[in-house]
Order: sequence, then structure tokens, then C-alpha cells
Amino acid sequence: MAQAQLSQTLNSLSQSATHKPRYEYDLVIVGGGIIGLTLASALKDAGLKVLLIEAKVESTAVAKGQAYAVHMLSALIYQGIGVWDKMLPQIATYHSVRLSDADYPDVLEFQTADLGTQDLGYVAEHQALLKPLQEFIQQCPNVTYLCPAEVVNIQYQQDIVAIDIKVGGEIRTVRSLLVVAADGARSPIRQAAGIKTHGWKYWQSCIVAYVKPEKPHNNTAYEKFWSSGPFAILPLPMNRCRIVWTAPHEEAKALCNLDDEQFLKELQERYGNQMGKLELLGERFIFQVQLMQSDRYALHRLALVGDAAHNCHPVGGQGLNLGIRDAAALAQVLQEAHSQNKDLGNIQILKRYERWRQRENLTILGLTDLLDRMFSNNFLPVVIVRRIGLRILQRVPIVKILVLKLMIGLLGRTPKLAQH
Ligand SMILES: Cc1cc2nc3c(=O)[nH]c(=O)nc-3n(C[C@H](O)[C@H](O)[C@H](O)COP(=O)(O)OP(=O)(O)OC[C@H]3O[C@@H](n4cnc5c(N)ncnc54)[C@H](O)[C@@H]3O)c2cc1C
Repeated sequence: MAQAQLSQTLNSLSQSATHKPRYEYDLVIVGGGIIGLTLASALKDAGLKVLLIEAKVESTAVAKGQAYAVHMLSALIYQGIGVWDKMLPQIATYHSVRLSDADYPDVLEFQTADLGTQDLGYVAEHQALLKPLQEFIQQCPNVTYLCPAEVVNIQYQQDIVAIDIKVGGEIRTVRSLLVVAADGARSPIRQAAGIKTHGWKYWQSCIVAYVKPEKPHNNTAYEKFWSSGPFAILPLPMNRCRIVWTAPHEEAKALCNLDDEQFLKELQERYGNQMGKLELLGERFIFQVQLMQSDRYALHRLALVGDAAHNCHPVGGQGLNLGIRDAAALAQVLQEAHSQNKDLGNIQILKRYERWRQRENLTILGLTDLLDRMFSNNFLPVVIVRRIGLRILQRVPIVKILVLKLMIGLLGRTPKLAQH
């Protein structure tokens, strides 16, 4: 009897050895934008074999003319990864943020003293974040960076996921335990997996431009809430500023089509005179603005991060920062699962990530929506409520600090990478 049992066990062991799923990578990240790169970098010491795939050639990916407010928690995450020192020399710090309701004289000002820190936050151009991350992953022996290459098909199976990648005109198939979609707002991977999204397109579009003011920007960020939409001025190195200007579609389109002189005149009206005359640097661009939340952040063998999972209004500069937190949270969940010999692609593991990030992101998405609707509005009762609100915030430090911490991610669950 004992012998029969033994041979049965040996049989099943040899069977499981024959049927053991074979895969080349523990996870494949699709999309080498800032969020995909952040996730790959955050996994440098996880003992996982990672493949990162980016469709654009490296120099094109770097050249995106975007700039972002980078919050304190994001900076702590990059410090934890070990890449912040390479980013910092090219980015600007801000020590004060001034929020105002159009020209209403009561200004809500957040300062470093509110947090007891040296800086309040940072502003970075796309390449100042992307390039150090691209260089960082070249030093991570566990990460293979395939660029340019494009994922063209994915087949989810019970034990593995098979990913077809187009590289130089040829299709290669790799197998992995998990695929992570970091492929941006349209996320073909999210769509192909049938994950539904909720949200809406705003009645506003967003104009972005770089300007050089005559006087020093003094490392101050401004968010002015005009009734047409929020208008942000973010300080950049070399005394430049980034303008993020939202207005109803038709107005935004008309503004964008003005010649430089007229555009500057309109800009100066919203900007004010605190920094003297403005010089327009380079081109201006216009973006559609939307709010989107995915129903699921994870399915069996699939996780979504960054814009693939959620998008929000640019007010408060939240979008990229939420994605950086997603990447740090997912890296932590995967690292813990791996250290316990668990299957990374199992939905029970991935749900830990989903529970962590989906609710936190929804709070911020709701807050940005509320801010935009409260301020892009001339309805008198709303105007009175928001002006009283600004006064209360300015005069009641405990409430003011709570709001500040909420906006910069310091009230949520802190990823281990940021605890140092
Ligand atoms: C006007 C405006 C202002 C903003 N300002 C701020 C701000 O101040 N602060 C802030 O935090 N956020 C801001 N955001 C949001 C921020 O830009 C996004 O949240 C962020 O860029 C998303 O990064 P991502 O890596 O998720 O996606 P993306 O940057 O879109 O990267 C996705 C990558 O995936 C690649 N890819 C796609 N499909 C495939 C495929 N099949 N195979 C291989 N690769 C693929 C693409 O080439 C791309 O490089 C702003 C957004 C807008 C529109």
C-alpha cells in the first residue's frame, strides 16, 4: 500500500514536472513611458525577470514636450528606487503654492513650513524624468528593455500569458506569468481584455505652453481658478514657467490659434503682472481633458498601471503622480508575493494591488472633478461657498495641512519604497 502511494506521488510529481509551465519572464511590462519605466526600476532588487517593451524609439519617447508637477511622495519613491539624484539637477523645486479664485484678493498659500520640509514639490520636464529612468534600467541586470518593439497580441492562458511582439518586422512570442499594461490612456491591452471604464470627457480643453517671465519666478507655483477653467503656472529651471491653461473647447481652440502677440496678451491677462512681461518659448499644444476610471485594475495575469487605469483633469497636477504610486504599490505586492513563492499572475495576488490603488485613485479623481466644477462656475451661491472655503483653509492650519497632504499623496498608504 505504502509502495503504491509512493509510486502515485512520484507519478504526479513527474507529471507536474512535465506540465510545469515554461515561461521566459516573470512579468512583461508593455509601455516604456514614465510609469512603465518606474515599475521596472522599482523591481530592480525583486529577483524577478522583467521584460519592458516600448513602441517608440528611445529618442522619440524622450522628446515629448510635456512637464509635470511632481509631488513629495513621488520624489520619495524615486529616492527609494535610487534614481532621484540623477533627476534632481534638471528639475525645479517649488517652495510655495498660491491658489486664488480669479482676482479675488484672498489667496490660499501653502508653504514649506506647512509640512516642515525643505521643498513643497517639484516640476519636471518629461525628459528630466524619462532619461534617468531609461539609463537606470540599463543598469538592472534583471530587466530586458526592448525598444522599439510593439506588442501586437496577447493570449491569456490559465498558467501563463503568451505575448506576441513585433520587433523589426518580425513577430516573436514570449511567455510570462503576468503582463502589466502601462500603455497609456487608450490602452489597447485594457480594451482587448474587455475591461470597462467609467468617466467623461470635460467641456474644457487644456493648452500647454512654456514662457520666460521678465522677473524671477521665485520657485512659486500658482493655480488661478478662472470661471472658464483652472490656470496653472509652474516654475521650471532657468527661470522658465510651464502654463497649463484649461478653457471650454471653442475658447481654447480660438486661443491656441491666435498669433503669438495676441496669445501673449490673453495669457498675460490670466497670468497677472507679478513676474513682469512674458516671452513665449516654443510651440503651444492643446489636449482633450477627461476623467476615466477602469472598473478593474487587475484580471488573472493582467494588471493596469498609470493612464491605462485612470485619467483625471490636469488641475492639481495629479495624473502622473497617481501612476508613480501605482507602480510603487504593484512592485511591492509582486515582490512580497515572489518572496512567498506565490504565482505573480494569480488574481488573488493582483487583487491586493487593485484594492490598494483603485480606491485611493478614485478619491483624487473625485477631488479634481469637484475642484474643477466648483471653480469653473459663476453661480453666486457656489462662488460664495468656495470663497468662504478658501478663507477657512487659509485660517485653519489643521484643515489646510490635511488638504495639502491629501493633494500630494501623504494621506494614503505609503509604499515601502517611500519609507526611508
Ligand atoms: C495637459 C496635461 C497636463 C498634465 N499635467 C500633469 C502634471 O502636472 N502632473 C501630473 O502628475 N500629471 C500630469 N498629466 C498627466 C500625465 O501626462 C499622464 O498621467 C502620464 O503621462 C501617464 O504616463 P503613462 O506612462 O501611464 O502613459 P504614457 O506616457 O501615455 O506612456 C505609454 C507608453 O506606452 C507605449 N505603448 C503603447 N502601446 C504600446 C504597445 N502595444 N507596445 C509597446 N509600447 C506601447 C507608448 O509608446 C508610450 O510610450 C497631464 C496630462 C495632460 C494631458
